[in-house]
Amino acid sequence: MQYASWMETLGEGFIGEILKAAQNPSMISFAGGLPALELFPDQELQRCFQRVFEEQGKSALQYAQTAGHPQLREWIAQQHKRNGKPVSMEEIVVTTGSQQGLSLLAQTFLDPGDVVFVETPTYLGAIQAFQGFRAQMIMIPCDEQGIIPEELETLLKEVTPKFLYIIPNYQNPSGKVMGLERRRELLRVAQAYDLLVVEDNPYGELRFEGEGYPDLIDLGENVIYLGTFSKVLAPGLRVGYVVADTDIIDHLCLTKEGVDLHSNNLTQRAVFEFLKEGLLPAHIQKLRALYKERRGAMVEAIENYLGDDVDMIVPSGGLFLWARFKKINNSFDYVQETIRQNVLYVPGALFYPDGRVTSEVRLNYSCSTPEMIEEGVQRLARAMQA
Ligand code: PMP
Repeated sequence: MQYASWMETLGEGFIGEILKAAQNPSMISFAGGLPALELFPDQELQRCFQRVFEEQGKSALQYAQTAGHPQLREWIAQQHKRNGKPVSMEEIVVTTGSQQGLSLLAQTFLDPGDVVFVETPTYLGAIQAFQGFRAQMIMIPCDEQGIIPEELETLLKEVTPKFLYIIPNYQNPSGKVMGLERRRELLRVAQAYDLLVVEDNPYGELRFEGEGYPDLIDLGENVIYLGTFSKVLAPGLRVGYVVADTDIIDHLCLTKEGVDLHSNNLTQRAVFEFLKEGLLPAHIQKLRALYKERRGAMVEAIENYLGDDVDMIVPSGGLFLWARFKKINNSFDYVQETIRQNVLYVPGALFYPDGRVTSEVRLNYSCSTPEMIEEGVQRLARAMQA
């Protein structure tokens, strides 16, 4: 079949292979990014859907505005500030998950060959979205707080990217968080070079330790913010959003019209009911407590069973722990061995657009119990011995 040439850049569907292996009931998977299933507020959501049917009837099943359900946009607007000022609903478009936000941004901003700056490493789904529009990704050197502003500035003197893509809170995959001074410094550089910053923040609310920091969009100009209810509510709802100035939102809506006309009307209304009820804050507290416990279980198991064989970054929020296996060179090849031991991770190479060889891995702790985490890490240690 004559597929588009860029399909070749997607590789051999390694993620599909991992997901298939995860179906095996005796497999312990640290590979996905799945929130804890047992905490999904299914009963409450069921009532919210029910209420939408009872009170709004058939209109919830009709075509609706591309930018999203007005009341939901209004609620989202109230949660944010843009450069210290209140946000209006005209500055919001509701998307089918923030993954669609990434894709719409790519489609709206990128011509083939355009440059996008990303963190080192960065989110696999963003790499896929940008690759889909033939972007050339340049990785900006990072330290324990993420992007190093001086390095960014050095590169900006040579290259003009369309935008910088960044996940400042509990980054996927590294779990790092960017401090306040670093945020300010980054924005100072961005402003000096008229650089558009795309801030992706699915994990910010999942803080279980340490301080929270203001969003980049609140601190400066020229920031586009991606939000989602996937990690604080449920990913199957597919409700995310973009906050940006109205001109950008209008352009994203034009693109979205050609993609899906609008996101699911019924679901947007049910999510709004959930938010209106004020159910989210208590739910987030539960998530924080559970993820803290599971993060703790994973760190302890790694210390106990892998010890000096591993370097890790201990996260203070989010879903992921980033580790480096010192005894192997290539965590990609090593997956076959761990599959034999019935344990899975995502090899670090997938988070580098240059596909480099690395011994790093991303381990997810949110969807396994402490017992499963301990057993899974023991299996990893066994695989290491094999
Ligand atoms: N951005 C990042 C950094 C993510 O980790 C994810 C989900 N893994 C997404 C965006 C997409 O999330 P969703 O489409 O479910 O909102």
